[in-house]
Amino acid sequence: MKKVRLRYAPSPTGYLHIGNTRTALMNYLFAKHYKGDFIVRIEDTDLERNVDGAIESQFDNMNWLGIFADESFLKPAEGFGKYKQSEKFELYEEIANQLLKDKKAYKCFCSSEELEADREKQLSSGNPAPQYNKKCANLTQEQINEFEQKNILPNIRFLVPSNKEYKTIDLVRDEVTFNSKEIGDFVILKSNKIATYNFAVVVDDIDMKITHVVRGEEHISNTPRQLMIYEALNAEPPVFCHLTLIVDETHKKLSKRSGNEMFFISQYKSQGYLPEAMFNYIGLLGWSPPGEVEIFSKEEFIKIFDEKRFSKSPSTFDVNKLKWINSQYMKKISDQDYLLFIKEFVDEKRFNLSKYDTNTIDKIMLLFKREIDFGVQINDHLDLFFNEHSKMDEATKDTLKELGNINEVKKFILEEFEKIKDWNEEAIKLIIKSTGIQLNRKGKELFMPIRILTTGFEHGPELAKTIEILGKDRILANIAKKS
Ligand code: GLU
Repeated sequence: MKKVRLRYAPSPTGYLHIGNTRTALMNYLFAKHYKGDFIVRIEDTDLERNVDGAIESQFDNMNWLGIFADESFLKPAEGFGKYKQSEKFELYEEIANQLLKDKKAYKCFCSSEELEADREKQLSSGNPAPQYNKKCANLTQEQINEFEQKNILPNIRFLVPSNKEYKTIDLVRDEVTFNSKEIGDFVILKSNKIATYNFAVVVDDIDMKITHVVRGEEHISNTPRQLMIYEALNAEPPVFCHLTLIVDETHKKLSKRSGNEMFFISQYKSQGYLPEAMFNYIGLLGWSPPGEVEIFSKEEFIKIFDEKRFSKSPSTFDVNKLKWINSQYMKKISDQDYLLFIKEFVDEKRFNLSKYDTNTIDKIMLLFKREIDFGVQINDHLDLFFNEHSKMDEATKDTLKELGNINEVKKFILEEFEKIKDWNEEAIKLIIKSTGIQLNRKGKELFMPIRILTTGFEHGPELAKTIEILGKDRILANIAKKS
């Protein structure tokens, strides 16, 4: 089998987001599964729309996720052309000229005002899909010379073959056919010598020997134009694979424009999602593994990848599932890695970590390893340890009232905790147990009053560990204070 070569081709008009990450990731998995090459090409011909820092954001975030390019402008290989479209203007012009010579393209001198007026005319006469009227398709050499003498620069238009069927076997949609009737002669090289997207993409994919094009379904309408250019250049088209949309819970396409605030990979990174979990979740968007298991490492994904398992319907971006997957990864990492990771997310303006020694801080952080879904959630839990609460809130006071004779619990635990010499989790557990036996309490009736009396909160992590970490002095003071 020929070595597969796939590419991810971002335009640096924005940062790496969920949609283009899914495209990058599927191309990467496809290439790696077949031991082929994964290439990143920068489609930056639209110089005005390029955003500063976008290319860096693409690479930084892809690398963070573990998606590494075998070839890119940072790591070029010999024999596949340049990896940035802005460095290929000469090639596009050369190939456009070749098509002119072969009479597969022609120079068009129509002004934009003329084109617009004709479009309006077609629309008002009931044609919903206006096409170029071919005014310049048959200019004589004299007419061309005349325009050129007046220094009018032409657009180069592709001569669309008339009434011809184009067919491709898309990996997601199976057989897709288009008729060239639906497409007017389109511009391939603008008068300012900038190649249009459809033309540059084909020239590059040929140049880079791309075998499979995996991209979002918004590009399906570009495919017939691209197939025609392949034909005109006598080149074999790649296998196409148009991934279905990613939608949000309201079935709208996931995008910043549709109001999806959490759209960029960097946002998930700064919220404390693990790269392996993001990779795992995005790998399930529009692709499904066989069987029930959904947690896969990158290596496992590469192994089980199968291009026949792309989904035919849109996939919903389900943030709760992402949270769940992230929590699975948080549980799996070693305590040491978890501690290194989680401390980055503690809001030090709210919580003064120097209040405790490292050992105690580690114990506190570990209490939540299995509780939180992503990094910044740690901050929802730290008040208990870092901020003194002199007052219990009303709801907690009400709960306490419903728990029967609290004074007897208060008196009993105050005395018993006072007696502990070696303050540790085991000793504390024993006292909780004997409170139950002595006062004939169990379950919520036992744990809730102890928790509220010792911590001031109705909920929290493992009780005995929490009491141990808070320390004897603070626990005794808290119990004495609670009424
Ligand atoms: N540059 C295009 C985009 O960002 C990708 C084109 C393609 O994959 O053919 O959508």
